Amino acid sequence: MRALAAVFCWALPVATAAAPLVAVDVGHYETEPGATSARGRPELEFNRALAAALAGALEERGLRVRVIGADGRMAVLSRRTAAARDARFFLSIHHDSVQPHYLEEWEHEGGRRRFSDRFAGFSLFVSRRNPELERSLACASSIGAALRAAGFAPSLYHAEPIAGESKPFADRANGVHYYDNLVVLHTATQAAVLLEAGVIVNRADETTLRAPATQRAIAAAVAEGVQRCLPA
Ligand SMILES: [Zn+2]
Repeated sequence: MRALAAVFCWALPVATAAAPLVAVDVGHYETEPGATSARGRPELEFNRALAAALAGALEERGLRVRVIGADGRMAVLSRRTAAARDARFFLSIHHDSVQPHYLEEWEHEGGRRRFSDRFAGFSLFVSRRNPELERSLACASSIGAALRAAGFAPSLYHAEPIAGESKPFADRANGVHYYDNLVVLHTATQAAVLLEAGVIVNRADETTLRAPATQRAIAAAVAEGVQRCLPA
């Protein structure tokens, strides 16, 4: 038993004080929980579950992690980046909706719900107002590439030239857009990326995103992408 424990410890990378600290921000808060999924579940719950899976995946890779906003009480966005001041990288976790004119109605469990099956997939955002744009972009591209390698596809619809979208591509192949005025991205003092992990108003995407196996797969890919873009 003791020998087994020793082998087990040897096999796992252990986060040390020298390992980069990654801030994982749980998007939204209880009183404004973000988008509502096709089946009526608030985005905050999806964000919390994925952030928890991601924290585990980053720690498995030997990185240090600080989860921000998991209690659902952090309404002031700049407090999130202030809480991450000593981190090497800031990653905000979200799940996506679409512009209101794309939404249709359906009945689910006796209630009328809004959905759109038109778009699916992940998107990544960086701000040109962030002080470390080059590393932000390198990390977003690296996360997008790892997600694609794991079988996920970028949504691409945020570049559509319509009101509310028009977010130009920074790296189209990997689903990365510029979104200069996103508060957590431009108030961050380190490289920062916002991930929309998938589209929860899409009925099929919602079901997939809610499955713990999908959350683990996304978390593993994102952790790999983050580790690749940070200096050892
Ligand atoms: Zn969101």
